[in-house]
Amino acid sequence: MSNPLYDALFAPLTHRDGPLLILESGESISGTAFHAMIARAAKALCDLGVRPGDRVAVQIAKSAEALAIYAATVSIGAVFLPLNPAYTPPEVGYFLDDATPRLFICDPAKAAALAGVASQTTLKTLDAKGGGSFGADLGAADPAFVPEGRLGADLAAILYTSGTTGRSKGAMLTHDNLLSNAQTLAALWRFTDNDVLLHALPIFHTHGLFVASNVSLLTGGQMIFLSGFDASTVLRLLPQATALMGVPTFYTRLLEDARFNHALTAHMRLFVSGSAPLLADTHRQFYARTGHRILERYGMTETNMNTSNPYTGERRAGTVGFPLPGVELRIMADGAQVPQGGVGGIEVRGPNVFAGYWQMPEKTREELRPDGWFITGDLGQIDADGYVQIVGRAKDLVISGGFNIYPIEVELALDEHPDVLESAVVGLPHPDFGEAVFAVLVAQKGCTLNADAVLASLSDRLARFKQPKAAVVVPELPRNTMGKVQKAALRASYAAWFQPKA
Ligand code: AMP
Repeated sequence: MSNPLYDALFAPLTHRDGPLLILESGESISGTAFHAMIARAAKALCDLGVRPGDRVAVQIAKSAEALAIYAATVSIGAVFLPLNPAYTPPEVGYFLDDATPRLFICDPAKAAALAGVASQTTLKTLDAKGGGSFGADLGAADPAFVPEGRLGADLAAILYTSGTTGRSKGAMLTHDNLLSNAQTLAALWRFTDNDVLLHALPIFHTHGLFVASNVSLLTGGQMIFLSGFDASTVLRLLPQATALMGVPTFYTRLLEDARFNHALTAHMRLFVSGSAPLLADTHRQFYARTGHRILERYGMTETNMNTSNPYTGERRAGTVGFPLPGVELRIMADGAQVPQGGVGGIEVRGPNVFAGYWQMPEKTREELRPDGWFITGDLGQIDADGYVQIVGRAKDLVISGGFNIYPIEVELALDEHPDVLESAVVGLPHPDFGEAVFAVLVAQKGCTLNADAVLASLSDRLARFKQPKAAVVVPELPRNTMGKVQKAALRASYAAWFQPKA
């Protein structure tokens, strides 16, 4: 019987003697060697009692072995559950209680701290160099295994949403969800076995694990597999690559480095950005510096990728392009589709959309309609040429004195100020207005910002009700590993700003 992900991504490696993964050290791992690593991991997992349908949770450093554990888990019919290494033991405890994995693999250095919250499962360890108790199991395992038969609708992975509000939810992703999206992206972005993808994203998140790794594995290319993003390492290895996938901060950091120039990127085929908004200004600066237009796409944990700017044709700055082939997208407000150009909630439907939230049937019903449309929680609009623009998160909408304010509109106006590098706008509790618009500003390098002067510059640009009632200047915005601005953290830090002083 077939196993969709194994058959498409991993089985072909048995015939690939050439390099598959190139590591930071320069060492490379061939396709056949990586397949043997997958087979040993599969045997080790089975020996530890992992059976089809069981969850395998990991909180480990990015490494070839970590990628092999993902591959092995889906190949034996189990469900891969990667966790951000930044999570604390109590946070990990929540995920383990919720997902009840058969096995949990963590970093040896954290094993003692995690033992308490992992008491209901088998605990194994693996470090970035292949050490630890699971590393030893891998070394000893026989590299012969038979993949488990799976249907397209069977689960391959559970990825927990970042959960900025309320409890984090486990998004259940099937073999078909992952494979169909990888096939669509590979064709759209023209990946082939000649590509060398510079892989500097984490592999606990949809972007690095599925978009980057699956597309590359599916098309038989190579990956320069870095433990994380470091501008100097990326600049050193870029000459060997043909494509880079990144979050917007990768691109702003590269632009900050004078060594990043036209000559260094002349041979590159593609730069992709996603997971957080890429400023139109960054898109333009990147083009001016390199002659390349970054291709921005939009997706989320629950849906894989939904839209992309075109490979050929205009890559429009500030937009996320068109719905992917096979993916439907609509803009809804008050239960009806909004007329072209209007702002509303983005809904998507297609083979990419997940199977629901793990053990949360009510949450699933709230967000996934019976006819397959998923309510993304993002606000968007579609321009006259069909390009989709993300306007913000529905829950970020500020309602001040009864008026709706989309933070991105205010942020774009603030960013126009020559001394402002970037900004974040949030709504804070206000005794008169309910919520008040509040801006957090970061100065351009070498500039000193006067928050009041920046606000004054908006007076003839934005309606009065949209203008922030106050602003602060900070050295940098709080961001998570995927480059997303942590608005919940900003709201919490400044929650008392407009409250009457006691
Ligand atoms: P995650 O589930 O962590 O991948 O986060 C998904 C969310 O990131 C989406 O719902 C969007 O709010 C945001 N996002 C992803 N890609 C983009 C993009 N290109 N532009 C703006 N926001 C994005």
